[in-house]
Amino acid sequence: MYCFGILTDFRTELFPASKRLVELSDRIETLQVRPRCWCGERATHNARTLNGVMVVTGTQVVVGDTQESAAAVAYQTLCRRHHRRKMTAQIAEVTLNPEPLPFGE
Ligand SMILES: [Zn+2]
Repeated sequence: MYCFGILTDFRTELFPASKRLVELSDRIETLQVRPRCWCGERATHNARTLNGVMVVTGTQVVVGDTQESAAAVAYQTLCRRHHRRKMTAQIAEVTLNPEPLPFGE
């Protein structure tokens, strides 16, 4: 059986279902499609933004968007360094690629 999903939330904590899947899995493979941070580094963290500012508190599941302009709550993939510094694309004043996963490459 194969399962696919996001391992951790915007606080870098495992989703309960992901935690259990890891506990039960025979093997874990990272997908070959690797999201990128706005800086070009491999994105390893999910950031939740509220009106463009990264937040690290709140309920685990909030429906948002990957397009900042579409909603007050949005999500953005960041590298470890920029997640730790809470430096989103908006803070760095760069334009986000509308497609965070490099499917077209
Ligand atoms: Zn980065």
